[in-house]
Amino acid sequence: MTQISVKFLGSGDAFGSGGRLQTCIYVQSEFAKFLIDCGASSLIAMKQCGVSLLDVETILITHLHGDHFGGIPFFILDSQLISRRTDPLIIAGPPGLEERIRNAMEVMFPGSSKVKQKFEITYRELPEREPAAIGELRVTGMQVVHGSGAPSYALRVEGAGKTIVYTGDTEWTDRLIEIARGADLFIAEAYYYNKKMENHLNYQTLMERRHELQCKQIVLTHMSDDMLGRLDRLELESAADGKEIVLP
Ligand SMILES: [Zn+2]
Ligand SMILES: [Zn+2]
Repeated sequence: MTQISVKFLGSGDAFGSGGRLQTCIYVQSEFAKFLIDCGASSLIAMKQCGVSLLDVETILITHLHGDHFGGIPFFILDSQLISRRTDPLIIAGPPGLEERIRNAMEVMFPGSSKVKQKFEITYRELPEREPAAIGELRVTGMQVVHGSGAPSYALRVEGAGKTIVYTGDTEWTDRLIEIARGADLFIAEAYYYNKKMENHLNYQTLMERRHELQCKQIVLTHMSDDMLGRLDRLELESAADGKEIVLP
């Protein structure tokens, strides 16, 4: 069976806590190379880690907040002007994805949303809970509890015999139990240590629910200063910019 590498190019929150870059997870195997989320700082993250934009076949997006999708306008512009991409690019995520990306491009680089690229971009807006075949991957979005002006998803990505789940941003919902089931890697946001707030998860809740999450490995990400100050006291593994996890 093929190895899968999961590299956290960006493991931070929206606010640069701890000097970390925004969410950008690069997954590569013999069969597929893709990003999960592409926060605004993702091009910096990719170039720091030596990941070529040309290697990325697909960008999967959990939800339409800038720290998760805001890097896409830069990705598209770089692909057109700098890396001179010719291979097709698939961008998949929740309903509303294409319009929001076009709007973001137009706000940041007026006229750019109307440029015809030299490569094909296919937008795939995933209906909730319906597994979609994207190349060699099977991708399922499940709506979680996080206001973003469109459905916010946790994503389950199956391919090469492995399953990776990422919560995206969300407060606790029992849907996480469902989407985590059988995952090899469950990437969970853990914004605060024990402070309960709307829209975000905290570490204590995850620990209380740990036994219900039937997955092999949990890695925490998207942490605030409150969490980053306690990294040495956590019982769960945490992400860091540049950290790689290999699924055998
Ligand atoms: Zn968010
Ligand atoms: Zn976020």
